[in-house]
Amino acid sequence: MKKTRGFSTRANHTFYNPNKDDGAIIPPIHLSTTFTFGNKKGYDYSRSGNQTRHILEHTIAELDNNAYGLAYSSGSAVLANVVALLKPQEMILFSSDAYGGTYRYITQVSHNQGIQYKIIDFTDKAQTEEALKNNPIKLIWVETPTNPLLKVVDIAQMAQLAHKYHAFLIVDNTFASPILQQPALLGADVVAYSTTKYINGHSDVVGGALTTSNEDLYQKLKFLQNAIGAMLSPFDSWLTLRGLKTLELRMKRHVDNAEEIASFLEKHRKIKKVYYPGLFTGEQGRIVARQMARPGGMISVELKEKYDVKKFLAKLEYFPLAESLGGVESLIDHPASMTHASIPKSEREKIGLSDGLFRISVGIENREDLLEDLSQALENL
Ligand code: PLP
Repeated sequence: MKKTRGFSTRANHTFYNPNKDDGAIIPPIHLSTTFTFGNKKGYDYSRSGNQTRHILEHTIAELDNNAYGLAYSSGSAVLANVVALLKPQEMILFSSDAYGGTYRYITQVSHNQGIQYKIIDFTDKAQTEEALKNNPIKLIWVETPTNPLLKVVDIAQMAQLAHKYHAFLIVDNTFASPILQQPALLGADVVAYSTTKYINGHSDVVGGALTTSNEDLYQKLKFLQNAIGAMLSPFDSWLTLRGLKTLELRMKRHVDNAEEIASFLEKHRKIKKVYYPGLFTGEQGRIVARQMARPGGMISVELKEKYDVKKFLAKLEYFPLAESLGGVESLIDHPASMTHASIPKSEREKIGLSDGLFRISVGIENREDLLEDLSQALENL
């Protein structure tokens, strides 16, 4: 594996050489669902293997410094496939402020099939070790930064703990992308993504991916991907490959914009609190410095209590109220009524996810325009 080539070189030159016959610079979209028996490349049926999807799978693995990749029909399908590794009574450990859909799947779907779970705060090392010591935990699902409070979890420390207790560590790297964070190099067994977000980056594909260097795990997951059938279509694979070509450029712009917006909001008199990894101090700040190249493009914000969050959101011009994140255009989300509505209010309150919190996915638009828009909406409250 070559680790020395830059991200954008790898994103643009992995597993596809311009076609020798016609010189096409861009790979074709292989739509064929089936292949002649005994063909040289070993393809048989597109659910179990497809050329366009393979280029994407290899490219994401390469960006993660992992050996193998699998592309799925959504980030949620990645979770479902990984959880299918478990047998009834085995247990998943995950965090109290994971993405709402992760919470929903583990508590309402896999739990009905006998898979046990435990929810903890991964920033508490003693609590994590206690849980691992006393439970049949096979799989640890860590999101970092978390959604929506953007807490960071020490991946190297989690990997050490996971392996001490013979569990697999899966890191959901959706918020950071391979550009800002390299979980495999810190010891994660599997790196998972909703590629719907930064990896594709244009809000036009729902997809997911995972990468690993553990061959045995890869073979099991590949078997499950084929058996369950939740793979990414050739066209969506092709669009995602196109998105990946500019991932490094886009991430730079997302973070440049987010850093300025976070610092503007932090100083504003109508703002109570800004959650942004670039502003963290103490242990959280040290983890960010250790494992993230830069703090990312996501910011969560609380207005002071006397201001009405819904009124504020309605005054914005460049931040449409919409679920999802990581696209080139800025979006704003109200977790309590949108992405995290599937978490009961009592649970949300326990983890500090207030009804007044909003989450900004900072896009690549002109920074001054974004700042001006936020400023006018705050002034007019
Ligand atoms: N992981 C994280 C961190 C997410 O934010 C999301 C969706 O928002 C998912 C996983 C699920 O991905 P998808 O919507 O592609 O199923």
